[in-house]
Amino acid sequence: MRYIFMRFPGGVGKAVTFSYDDGSKKDMRFSDLLTKYDLKGTFNLNGEELRRDWDYCMSTEQTKEYILDRGHEIALHGLDHRALGTLRPVEGIKEVYECRCELEERYNTIIRGFAYADSGVLGFENGACYEDVKSYLKHLDIAYARSLEIGYNDFSMPNDWYAWQPTVHHYHDKIFDYIKEFVGIDLSPKGHVQSGVTPRLFFVWGHSSEFGDDDGAWAHMEKICQELSGKEDIWYATNIEIYNYTKAYESLVWSAKGTRVYNPTLYEIWFDIDGKLYSVKPGETLTF
Ligand SMILES: [Zn+2]
Repeated sequence: MRYIFMRFPGGVGKAVTFSYDDGSKKDMRFSDLLTKYDLKGTFNLNGEELRRDWDYCMSTEQTKEYILDRGHEIALHGLDHRALGTLRPVEGIKEVYECRCELEERYNTIIRGFAYADSGVLGFENGACYEDVKSYLKHLDIAYARSLEIGYNDFSMPNDWYAWQPTVHHYHDKIFDYIKEFVGIDLSPKGHVQSGVTPRLFFVWGHSSEFGDDDGAWAHMEKICQELSGKEDIWYATNIEIYNYTKAYESLVWSAKGTRVYNPTLYEIWFDIDGKLYSVKPGETLTF
């Protein structure tokens, strides 16, 4: 045995996810688009006072109907949409904690996702430091924090969940080249030892408010959805679903030789061992 690599639910090697910010009313049209193509997304919301102030935001009822009831995720974007990379820790903590309390109460749910407002992890100044932010996000039970795209990232899974870099913004000039390359990757089990067949992720981010009422802009977004959708070797998931599944995979308990594995989680977990696909059910021990 040389390599063991995670596979997503159903044994597929690739996943696609979307992350959209600010909760504007255009998110309803975007949700219609995701639904039409069986895609899943995460919507990052601010505190209610700011959202009402911005009056272009979805109401609570609209958010329930178009986001939650359709199986999408709501995540935090900060109480007042302030950049953590410019705040003192006490201000940043308030920004995340109060947003979390408010949205969890409003939507009767548990929210652990976060998307940095205004600047990602690349824009730390004004005395703020990334290690402080990462530390308090962890202590606030935040599971992951999405940053801003730094360009093509080779479809890799995050190695730091608090600096989760999307693959592309929807207006990236090479987005259709990247989609073509991603869709063409073949991670099906090959029956022999391979290197470098780790799971691949395509992560699109943006704001649906950027499209306004411009049908040409919406057609651009629809083309993205269309080209990524309907593939049997891709798992379509929200940000937190990808996080939760990966953490479940990392919770598998292996024997020293790697010939036995126990699954203590509630997920069926899939993996590729030297080109052969396996899955281990909740509570099951598998011997190879
Ligand atoms: Zn924003």
